[in-house]
Amino acid sequence: MANWQQFYKRSWSERVNILAANQKLTSAEQNLIKENYNHIGEQQVENYITNFGVPMGLLLKLPVNGQEVNVPMATEEPSVIAAANNGARIMRQGVGVQTEFSQHLMRGQILLVNVQDISALSEYVQKNEQLLLKWANDAHPSMAARGGGAQSILVEILAEKTVAVNVMVDTKEAMGANTVNTMAEAVADKLRQQGYQVLMAILSNYGTESLITAKVAIPTAALATKQGLSGTEVAQKIALASHMETLSPHRAVTANKGILNGIEAVVLASGNDTRAVNAALHAYAAHNGQYQGLVSWQVIDDELIGTTTMPLSVGVVGGSIGIVPAVKLNHHIMGQPTAKELASIIVATGLAQNLSALRALVSTGIQAGHMALQAKSLAVQVGAHADEIAPLVAKLNEAPKINATLASELLQQLRQ
Ligand code: NDP
Repeated sequence: MANWQQFYKRSWSERVNILAANQKLTSAEQNLIKENYNHIGEQQVENYITNFGVPMGLLLKLPVNGQEVNVPMATEEPSVIAAANNGARIMRQGVGVQTEFSQHLMRGQILLVNVQDISALSEYVQKNEQLLLKWANDAHPSMAARGGGAQSILVEILAEKTVAVNVMVDTKEAMGANTVNTMAEAVADKLRQQGYQVLMAILSNYGTESLITAKVAIPTAALATKQGLSGTEVAQKIALASHMETLSPHRAVTANKGILNGIEAVVLASGNDTRAVNAALHAYAAHNGQYQGLVSWQVIDDELIGTTTMPLSVGVVGGSIGIVPAVKLNHHIMGQPTAKELASIIVATGLAQNLSALRALVSTGIQAGHMALQAKSLAVQVGAHADEIAPLVAKLNEAPKINATLASELLQQLRQ
């Protein structure tokens, strides 16, 4: 057995050799690792072995704030990009998505315990707010220099003797996790010097001060289906489906998973933090006390109106954005959006995804579209070569039910 000790200190080739020896990797497996080696990956994560690819496709002509944007989406789920394009096509029949940002602040939490006199703490923070803000900004002066930085301090009582001192930071074009953490730790040090017991200092991903609101209006006629449902019928059913999400958290979670299919694919392709966005969106879905769908649809006169409000903290600088060439390419494809424009693109993608999913669900059902795309995955899974995939998919699409066994049988027939 090769020794795993100090694995993180080994060179990349040593790590690969140790892994190969211990796990008895075949030469094909070792080649796979080597073919996907990327020196940037080695700088990004510890114990780096290889790069793990995710397919990337384009959402074309997403109508958002008066423009049509081409949006790279990175996802492994077969139906996601097709559905987003379908939703965008329908949304283009109206004026498209309009978005608004209330403000764009990130919250750094300094959690204090055993606070004997909370009023004295509040008074101290109130009287010394400018000094505390200066400490925060001195820890990362370039953010204030570009017109952002720490803006205010809020004291929040969490429980008896337990307080969060929140540093509210404008992180401009960055998502700002590292910047906010640096500032929160600087203020925490000063509070410690005042005798307060700091448990920790860390940003909150629940971006309630970074809310984006979006609205889309679609002429109901654009929703009619080939199977003969009128646009008005589909619109009314979509509104009803949206109402279901206020009644059943089981339904709402799945609806939001669908919205995140689109959102997460754009967040990933744009080099942003998928987990941060995910956590914030799910928390916000429950901000009224019951978990609900993030998008709501109503029929008003002859239009289907979709609205949503979401906490969305994304950046166009920082993190992996300036490092990964594919991410730089994707920002170029999107037209080098600002952080707010990127957030608008992301929320509009969520709306397109949700519209497409709900329209399918209330008309043909979701499986028809899914299985057509699933056929491609099955073809690859059973070992079809590039030139065999199209004929095999055509045969699978004729079958009433498809699965790997059938795909395998049909492939053998094709090869005879
Ligand atoms: P960085 O630490 O890379 O900070 C962004 C940097 O971009 C700024 O410090 C700034 O450097 C530079 N910059 C250049 N131009 C601008 C501009 N116009 N506006 C703002 N900044 C600019 O990234 P973030 O602070 O955004 O942190 C994001 C990363 O942190 C992600 O990779 C995320 O995964 C990770 N992370 C997330 C956590 C969480 O979500 N809980 C926790 C910890 C890390 P300068 O001011 O020096 O010029």
